[in-house]
Amino acid sequence: MERGLNTRCLHLEETEGKTEHYGALSYPIYQTATYAHPGAGKSTGYDYSRLQNPTREHLEKTVASLEGGIDAFALSTGMAAITLLMEIFEPGDHMIAEADLYGGSIRFFDNVSKKNHYEFTYLNCSKDDIEGAIKGNTKAIYIETPTNPMMNVSDIAAISRIAKKHNLLLIVDNTFLSPYFQNPLKLGADIVIHSGTKFLGGHNDTLAGFIVTNSDEIKEKLRFLIKTTGAGLSPFDSWLILRGMKTLGIRMEKSQENAIRIANWLKEQHIVKKVYYPGLPEHPGYEIIKRQARGFGSMITFDVDTKEHAWKIIESVRMIKFAESLGGVETLITYPTTQTHADVPDEVRIQNGITPCTLRLSIGIEDIEDLLAELSYVFHLPE
Ligand SMILES: *Cc1c(COP(=O)(O)O)cnc(C)c1O
Repeated sequence: MERGLNTRCLHLEETEGKTEHYGALSYPIYQTATYAHPGAGKSTGYDYSRLQNPTREHLEKTVASLEGGIDAFALSTGMAAITLLMEIFEPGDHMIAEADLYGGSIRFFDNVSKKNHYEFTYLNCSKDDIEGAIKGNTKAIYIETPTNPMMNVSDIAAISRIAKKHNLLLIVDNTFLSPYFQNPLKLGADIVIHSGTKFLGGHNDTLAGFIVTNSDEIKEKLRFLIKTTGAGLSPFDSWLILRGMKTLGIRMEKSQENAIRIANWLKEQHIVKKVYYPGLPEHPGYEIIKRQARGFGSMITFDVDTKEHAWKIIESVRMIKFAESLGGVETLITYPTTQTHADVPDEVRIQNGITPCTLRLSIGIEDIEDLLAELSYVFHLPE
């Protein structure tokens, strides 16, 4: 029987019953660049830390186990993971990508991948005709669900059937729900991307990124590429993410519990025009996310009535921080128009529904009473 996710965050079965590393419970940080060889033509299994490092490897195996992949790759940031992944494609390849992806992914595709002669078609993958956009040179479909920041939910299994029928790779950025709530590989995806900076690390203190796959062929390509390009995660940062992941489950549960309360509270505020949270039964993706995931996460986007109210909220928060990023223990609020999605072309941003009245919350694990007290205060300041 496969062990539960909380257990898998803590224990790798292959190390059990052994007392290597003096029995240290916390996996050691192998802060070394290189490794001495026992003899000519011999290796300890590690040669140089750009290729592999024991601490990074322990982390990669843990993340692979959580996602149900055969292997994972730990990179210095989420964007480094996406950059590395793009190297498995060739100039002239076409990709169908979700229009409401993380803004940095769109910036990368439009400014770097296109320069390398990759083509993109952006769609709302929760409702547009994906199959109709497939061309002779299409190689992959790249989605996020829920999307950032509009929280659109796409049906991973349905999209994976389209991908398989046309021999395309399905890539899913699973940052928002983390492997604790959603496992795209089990729903037919070929590759999962994570910004480990977010829920996996969970403490707003470390940058990291992951690629996870269940394909031997992709795994071999990526092992070659990570050693050749060199953005593997450092031993210390690998340890910080391992340390953060030990509490992934309880953090995900607690922040989601807070998020459900806050989403319902937001709905009752007269200055709030719309709440985008897939855990609300009226959300158009509610049934799909219930079917394909074990939770709704703790990201909430909402529109207020005026830009002035949006600005007042971000300028008045005190305990809640006005900061980019998400998925950490502290609650953050962001303004997608000028922060995370500033480099998305205006017309795309507006079409996706991101307006100057849109705010995004990443709910942390503070006491709900304190979060609601702070929100009540900033929502009811005198005009
Ligand atoms: C933050 C983020 C990224 C990029 O990750 P970094 O660690 O910041 O480089 C990619 N995808 C999503 C969904 C993100 O939220």
